[in-house]
Amino acid sequence: VEHNTSNFIRNIVIDDVESGKTKEVITRFPPEPNGYLHIGHAKSIVLNFDIADEFGGKTNLRFDDTNPVKEDVEFVESIKKDVEWLGYNWDGLFFASDYFEEMYSRAILLIEKGLAYVDDLSADQIREYRGTLTEPGKESPFRGRSVEENLDLFKRMRDGEFRDGEKVLRAKIDMSSPNINLRDPVIYRIAHVPHHNTGTKWCIYPMYAFAHPIEDAIEGVTHSICTLEFEDQRPFYDWVIKECEMPAVPRQYEFGRLNLTNTVMSKRKLKQLVEEGYVDGWDDPRMPTLSGLRRRGYTPEAIRNFCREIGVAKTSGIVDEKMLEHFVREDLKLKAPRTMGILKPLKVVITNYPEGEIEMLDAEINPENPEMGMRKIPFGREIYIEQEDFMEDPPKKYFRLFPGNEVRLKHAYFIKCEEVIKDADGNVVELHCTYDPETKSGTGFTGRKVKGTIHWVEATQAIPAEFRLYEPLILDEDAEKEGGSFLDHVNPNSLIIEQGFVEPNMKDVKGNDKFQFFRHGYFNVDPKNESDKLIFNLIVSLKSSFKL
Ligand code: ATP
Ligand code: MG
Ligand code: MG
Repeated sequence: VEHNTSNFIRNIVIDDVESGKTKEVITRFPPEPNGYLHIGHAKSIVLNFDIADEFGGKTNLRFDDTNPVKEDVEFVESIKKDVEWLGYNWDGLFFASDYFEEMYSRAILLIEKGLAYVDDLSADQIREYRGTLTEPGKESPFRGRSVEENLDLFKRMRDGEFRDGEKVLRAKIDMSSPNINLRDPVIYRIAHVPHHNTGTKWCIYPMYAFAHPIEDAIEGVTHSICTLEFEDQRPFYDWVIKECEMPAVPRQYEFGRLNLTNTVMSKRKLKQLVEEGYVDGWDDPRMPTLSGLRRRGYTPEAIRNFCREIGVAKTSGIVDEKMLEHFVREDLKLKAPRTMGILKPLKVVITNYPEGEIEMLDAEINPENPEMGMRKIPFGREIYIEQEDFMEDPPKKYFRLFPGNEVRLKHAYFIKCEEVIKDADGNVVELHCTYDPETKSGTGFTGRKVKGTIHWVEATQAIPAEFRLYEPLILDEDAEKEGGSFLDHVNPNSLIIEQGFVEPNMKDVKGNDKFQFFRHGYFNVDPKNESDKLIFNLIVSLKSSFKL
């Protein structure tokens, strides 16, 4: 199995299955539909689905939609698409909001047991009364309300008699608990806001900490896996399961969230980048969203393998973004056809090549995967090479073209630079070269050697193409800690656009086809392109300093 990377949560599940405590492993991935999924969510998706898969269990996709203010169906649809794209099929598809009626009756049960009360304190007062780590909290003057009064007020809250913020329902636990989360947490609030799923049916909404354990229990989740910041919530999670008398008893386990260098990973910040126009949408290829990574050219296999390799720990570390790049290179190495593209063209005329003649040369589609076969590429008197493959006054050890020097054209011939043509301002606009017919690739020519091999495309048949080169969107993502905003660290050069040419073979490519452009890197055909022009997104360069 590709997925049983050992980790502490998996070990817990193994123990529970072996001891018979768990009959069927049930996990869930519970996104709030308030934004698009990002690579951090992928870590949670892979963990939840892999663990259930391994033990023949089930994983639900559950939308944790208890806060109507920020949620939207656009996000629901994008999340479903992204989970499927990542390669996972959920068992149940659920909405926390479908359980509102049951949550309400569990809240009534708490009131009846004397374990919840309606409070009239304002949000600010509640915060003030809650105390601090070193100071116990103070009881609300409304804490002593009778069961009857609480039942009446809570029903009237539901019926819409009160304004937002006028009243809340709180669990009655312990205002001097060392765990602040147990100091009578709010479990229902009033919000006269329509909900994407329940419309205007409700004007009271359960708080996440109350809703989540109930959702897990209703679905029979056995292992409720969440990120570390919920560790202090676990006692309240267990309290809710017990006092609400839920028939099933899920357990919560926490792991460290994924952070990546030069990457912001909170939906709030990603939303800000979208809404303030720093990027062109949630699927901008610079975004760490799954839709952005997909448009950039990342494959589901690469992301899954990355998530498994980074492991699951009790602490959150920061992972080098180069590791993610490493996994996409690895995945594409054998799959992506090789091709040649010129990002910054310089015209070369081969003066001793017959005018008007084109010959077809043979080239391997992928030398690392010979099964992919061969392709034909045209060669003729006029070609484009990369501007940076020519220097008029080269430094030592420059092995590409310069006046009087000879190089190999990949898959073709040796050419020698005879003459440099310049415009009135002295810019190099064209080179005149000669070729040696004896040196054709594949003929076994050994007469002399050259040190450089450069790429090229035949000029009359080349297809114009746009290349979009990406760099990190945010540089130094920690800068905020010094008081600034992450927006001060947006990289002004995160997108560089070049207009060049590709081989004529590329005329029928489709969105999301992936190629390795010789000497440049892996590129994805932009799937969102509505123009006639070909657009290629740089997935990752070829060079890697990253070693596993
Ligand atoms: P954000 O702070 O980006 O809004 P969130 O935790 O509020 O993230 P949810 O929609 O609640 O987003 O997340 C769904 C699941 O994905 C949760 O179980 C959450 O713990 C997990 N998750 C979110 N971000 C990460 C991350 N960076 N690494 C690992 N898991 C994550
Ligand atoms: Mg959350
Ligand atoms: Mg959130």
